[in-house]
Amino acid sequence: MPPCPVVIIGAGLAGLSCALRLQERRIECVLLEASDAPGGRVRTDLIDGFRLDRGFQVLLTAYPRTQHVIDYGTLKLRRFLPGALIRFRGRFHTLADPIRHPASALPTLLAQVGTLGDKWRVLRLRDRVCGPPLQEVLERPETSTLVELKKMGFSARFIAGFFKPFLAGIFLETQLTTSSRKFEFVFRMFSLGHAALPEFGMQAIPEQMALRLRPDMLRLNSRVKQVDGATVYPAAGDPITAQQVVIATEHTEALRLLGQNANDPSASVTCMYFAASASPVAGPWLVLNGEESGPINNLCVPSQVQNSYAGPEGNSLISVTILDPLYQERPDLEEAVRSQLAEWYGDAVLNWRHLRTYRIPNAIPLQEAPLLTPVHKPVKLGERLFICGDHTGIASIEGAIASGIRAADALSGQ
Ligand SMILES: Cc1cc2nc3c(=O)[nH]c(=O)nc-3n(C[C@H](O)[C@H](O)[C@H](O)COP(=O)(O)OP(=O)(O)OC[C@H]3O[C@@H](n4cnc5c(N)ncnc54)[C@H](O)[C@@H]3O)c2cc1C
Repeated sequence: MPPCPVVIIGAGLAGLSCALRLQERRIECVLLEASDAPGGRVRTDLIDGFRLDRGFQVLLTAYPRTQHVIDYGTLKLRRFLPGALIRFRGRFHTLADPIRHPASALPTLLAQVGTLGDKWRVLRLRDRVCGPPLQEVLERPETSTLVELKKMGFSARFIAGFFKPFLAGIFLETQLTTSSRKFEFVFRMFSLGHAALPEFGMQAIPEQMALRLRPDMLRLNSRVKQVDGATVYPAAGDPITAQQVVIATEHTEALRLLGQNANDPSASVTCMYFAASASPVAGPWLVLNGEESGPINNLCVPSQVQNSYAGPEGNSLISVTILDPLYQERPDLEEAVRSQLAEWYGDAVLNWRHLRTYRIPNAIPLQEAPLLTPVHKPVKLGERLFICGDHTGIASIEGAIASGIRAADALSGQ
């Protein structure tokens, strides 16, 4: 490969956003990606005509940087309803944003999952996280999410029945030890925008980004085995001497490339997909397990949000997320999931066809307090070496995209 001004290692969202920013600034760069497609952790498979995201994920439309980088119109986004159905004490309760979904205001008020005081506190929480500028919210003293929720006065029942399954589905950990800063950021995003899916699956997001790059900039199946200063050693082929290098891989891999033998603690998740002749859920709701028992944390029917996720003959696609590490390791996991689903939806579940199970070991970094003080980690490691990725900010689609921009700006002296 001829000498290249900038080499970016990894074409996940962070590497792609870095490359796009450099392209805007007319700085030559090349992206080396180990796998067969861009996107990193945001990939979608087409299985038997169903569209399966590799782990249930959503785009939060209010993400401040993302909405400027991604053309939402081309993605043809469709939304989940602003709220959730909560399995609690043997039946489903509706808990929705009464302002954006007035039809659910009364059921929300009556839902046994929390007291009237809890529901009033949610409205206050909304004001607390949406009122001030984002920077001010992110600079508040940091503690764990659980401690913060208790400080705000939420009842134990409401924390266990609503906040735990809701936030665990985002943090991918069930004890809510994740930083209160991530909690407040995420709650703000859910309150100001919508949780949405692109028409052709989550992978449409990185694909859109990759399509805007010049075709020769992205090199797939190009694993890098080592970085030494600004010299990059691909697994196959000659070393590349670059003027500057950006490491945009997962954190543990970044540390390995830098010659440090350390593991960044991360969360794992298992996502199981089923096909059914009819949807068990009436509408594009997220379903949360508020009962603190069984393998399921949350469930949804992506085909209720986007038709293109549905299989042939309009079959429904059901996505089930499992977080409890003990359940994730069980060899009879599918049986345990089906048994809980049958309690919820009856014998029809016996006819659901298992499509695929994704076990994702290092899904996102665990970001416990005080790891988000400061929220943004430095992206400049040396005169010629830069780093980006979700681990340098609040781990999310937004965190990854924003970090790529920060690295490109640091590199180009902006
Ligand atoms: C199951 C799941 C659900 C999630 N849900 C949400 C959600 O709902 N909303 C949200 O905002 N976020 C969600 N996230 C988080 C979000 O997807 C990630 O934070 C983000 O995609 C990380 O992007 P990244 O570019 O930092 O890293 P990655 O996507 O991991 O990209 C790193 C890239 O580097 C490549 N690479 C690694 N090593 C090498 C090497 N040696 N040489 C060359 N290339 C290499 C990898 O192949 C990969 O393509 C979820 C994540 C998972 C896994």
